[in-house]
Amino acid sequence: MKNLNRRNFLRLTAAGSAGLFIPSKLPAVTNRVSQPEEGKINMEYRTLGRTGIKVPVLSMGVMRADNPNLVKAAIRSGIVHFDTAHGYQEGKNELMLGKIFKDVPRESFVVATKIKVDQRKGIFSKDAPEQFMEKFNLSMQRLGLDYVDILYFHAIDSREATLHEPILKVMQDLKAQGRTKNIGVSTHSNEPEVINAAVDSGVYDVVLTAYNFKQKHLPELNAAIDRAAAAGLGVVAMKTMAGAKDINIPAALKWVFQNKNIHTTIPGFTAFDELDVCLACATDPQLTGDEKNYLAQADVAPSLYCQQCNSCTTQCAKHLPIPDLMRAYMYNYGYRYPAEARTLVTSLHLSSNPCSSCTLCKVKCTNGFAVAEKVRDIARIAAVPREFLT
Ligand code: SF4
Ligand code: SF4
Repeated sequence: MKNLNRRNFLRLTAAGSAGLFIPSKLPAVTNRVSQPEEGKINMEYRTLGRTGIKVPVLSMGVMRADNPNLVKAAIRSGIVHFDTAHGYQEGKNELMLGKIFKDVPRESFVVATKIKVDQRKGIFSKDAPEQFMEKFNLSMQRLGLDYVDILYFHAIDSREATLHEPILKVMQDLKAQGRTKNIGVSTHSNEPEVINAAVDSGVYDVVLTAYNFKQKHLPELNAAIDRAAAAGLGVVAMKTMAGAKDINIPAALKWVFQNKNIHTTIPGFTAFDELDVCLACATDPQLTGDEKNYLAQADVAPSLYCQQCNSCTTQCAKHLPIPDLMRAYMYNYGYRYPAEARTLVTSLHLSSNPCSSCTLCKVKCTNGFAVAEKVRDIARIAAVPREFLT
């Protein structure tokens, strides 16, 4: 994310000069006893569909955050919804949240976690439900909670996977037992198909989808989001920074806020100045002229964001999972999060140079990516020992 100077930012913004973003001037975390008071720090609230959960348009994607004080500052600033996953930071992310949450009244925050099981395009192993339950139990242990507010079936990329009966049953049982209040599906590949399947299922309460200004030319995605919201599902947006490298945070985030069918966003800020910028966007979500100009230019500029359109997969001589590899590339060079890039590449079980036997790459990426070059580059990360990466 763009490196801003916190002191200058606070001095130059009206909200900053009112002291709205200085955690030490906000109520202590432990004073919060109920759902957030609307308008407390002047953020817009929206309701997550039929879940009835009311949250500010700004939530926190905790994935890369490793500073508990940043999460506490977010809580004191009025953010109530925290999004993690079983796999983030190999469990340390949930453990960090668990330590923070034990000092916070349960009804004052909303937490979502996500469970992934091995699958490809809806083909699961037989023990997928057991895998799911084992991971869920461990997540609850780490979080130190009796229940989560949203339990997502994580990183789903097809209708078949979204509707996989054995997993749906596990999640419905957990909901009936009160161990999750709501069930959802998360997707950053083939999103329209997954979102539409979630609506058709009649089972899911929430969808978490990639959504950013780079996707404005994808009418199917916008139509699926509109359909989900109209059907009463909560809609949460991730990947709002479109690859994150050198992005204008306010322009990217405010662009997402303009869509009223997106109920909240989970940008993954990792520093206090980034939190300040995101809060400023949520208190004043109107795009400025400069931000609109930036978006117009950024729309056509090269970026690290792979649209996950899948049009490359059939063109590849080896049918490599190119969208996953491009996402790993973005994690490494955009988010500067090599550990997550390595986790993703390793999960694909590829050889160290998957393009080695190809003399000519025939893949034509709709984004103009030099696919083979990026594949060769990112595939090497699997060979780097995990302990060398952060
Ligand atoms: S064609 Fe390009 S943008 Fe589409 S999924 Fe493949 S790499 Fe990503
Ligand atoms: S060079 Fe790599 S990406 Fe291109 S067709 Fe061959 S295996 Fe696929």
